[in-house]
Formats: sequence, C-alpha cells, structure tokens
Amino acid sequence: MENIKAKKKYGQNFLIDKAVLNGIIQAMPNNNNYLVEIGPGLGDLTEKLVKYKDMTAYEVDTDLIGVLRSKFQDEIASNRFKLVHKDVLQAWEGQNTLHEGKYDLIANLPYYIATNIILRALEDANCEHIIVMIQKEVAQKFIAKVNEKEFSSLGIISQLLTTDSRILFDVPPESFNPAPKVVSSILYLRKDMTKSLSDDFKKFLKACFSQPRKKLSKNLSSLLEKAEISKIFSALNIDENKRPHEVSASLYSQMYTKVKNGRE
Ligand code: SAM
Repeated sequence: MENIKAKKKYGQNFLIDKAVLNGIIQAMPNNNNYLVEIGPGLGDLTEKLVKYKDMTAYEVDTDLIGVLRSKFQDEIASNRFKLVHKDVLQAWEGQNTLHEGKYDLIANLPYYIATNIILRALEDANCEHIIVMIQKEVAQKFIAKVNEKEFSSLGIISQLLTTDSRILFDVPPESFNPAPKVVSSILYLRKDMTKSLSDDFKKFLKACFSQPRKKLSKNLSSLLEKAEISKIFSALNIDENKRPHEVSASLYSQMYTKVKNGRE
C-alpha cells in the first residue's frame, strides 16, 4: 500500500476489490457530465474514472496528496485531472457548488461525514447523479419509504429531491483494507434538477423527528400549539396517533406549507 498507513480520523478504508471497482465504473451514468470524486485515497478508483472523463478530486490528507500528485502527474499536466487539497465540506462552505456546470459525484466516502456530504450534494444545484459507497444502514435510510422503520428526514429529503434512489449492490468488509466493521452499499441517487428545499423546511423535519418513536403530534408541540396541530392534521387527514415514520414525504411537504402560511 505504497507505505501509507490508513488513518482512522479520516475514515480511510481503501477499496482493494477489483470487482467492486469495476461495478462502480459500470454504474457511471452515460452522459456528458463532469465528474467529482471525494476522497480519492490512493487513487485506485480515480485511475479508472479519469480514463472516461475529466474530473476534480478533493482530498484532505496531506500524505495522500503527494502520492496522488505523482501518480497522476500526466493527467494533472494535461488538465484532465484537478486535485484539490481541501476538506470538501469546507470547499462547499465557500461556494454553492463544487463545479460550474453539471456534474456527477462518484466516491467511496469517508463514513464519518458521509451523511453530511450526501445532504450537501443533494443541495448542490449542479450535481445530478450521486453514486457513493457508504455504510449500508445509512444507504437504507436514504431509500426508505413511508412506514418502514428506517424512514426518517433523510428518506423524506431524498424522495422530495430525487427521481430515482436505489442501492446498487452491497460490499462486504473484506473488500477494503483495513476492513471496516460494517457492510457497505453503493447508493445511487438521481436528482430532480428542478427541485430544492429550504433550510427552514429541513429544520421543520428535524423537529418532526426529534423523538422518532414518539407520536408526531408530540414532537410538533415544540413548534406549534395543540389546537394548531389538530387543525393541520384534520385538514390533511392525518391520524393524531401516527409516529413520524408513518407519514409520507408529500404530507410533510403539505404540513410545512400550512405551518408557514399560518406564520405569515
Ligand atoms: N477512494 C479511496 C478508495 O476507494 O480506496 C479512499 C476511500 S476512503 C473510504 C475515504 C477517503 O476520503 C480518504 O482518502 C480520506 O483521506 C478522504 N477524506 C476524509 N475526510 C475528507 C474530507 N473532509 N474531505 C475530503 N476528503 C476526505
């Protein structure tokens, strides 16, 4: 492994399974979009991706930047590959998008910030497809449907912002070095480029799921008076005994509109 020791603090589990690498390449959308990779690591996935498309990769670890610069010196010189030495979440803080033009995000993500990265990519107006390896349990939350126990704000946000969300395949711990303690999955999300969600709606969802196993009406009592909750539930035909995971994404959206209109 080129004398590089994997660093836990950066969530480094390097993919060593060629069949999985090829599986990710096969899942690449057939389009003209630019590519962005987050966490290229030792560059094994990058090496395959850059053969197909021009791309940018964000890597936070200084030790890996040196390895990547020498491995991809030709691609960097010919501008086919741009390597950015930065924490990707910080990169997003300074700008709305990681690329000026439509792009697809393909990555074996560091698990400790995977959820934040996906949420950020869902908000990025230029990102069209998200194909990422993450912990299976987290992937299931992004594709969960109403009434499933995994259905949460992540499933709602994903349903409201995408036209397709799927797990492509699972990846066992042995496919990595070092092996993580959990099974991973390749999550595929195709965004509806016409949609976006306000921060205020996301805060509303957070309140709705503040205690996921309690009744939704109880969670909402931190935001609204009891009479207001009853009025909204009755207008939308929502049973007051429902738990947060038993209410559909579309009803959350309608509920929020009523709350907002009530405030105005
Ligand atoms: N792509 C490589 C592979 O498949 O073997 C490495 C994947 S490893 C799970 C995650 C990578 O993300 C590591 O290279 C790590 O240094 C990098 N990373 C961790 N935190 C990051 C951050 N905030 N911004 C950019 N890269 C990060």
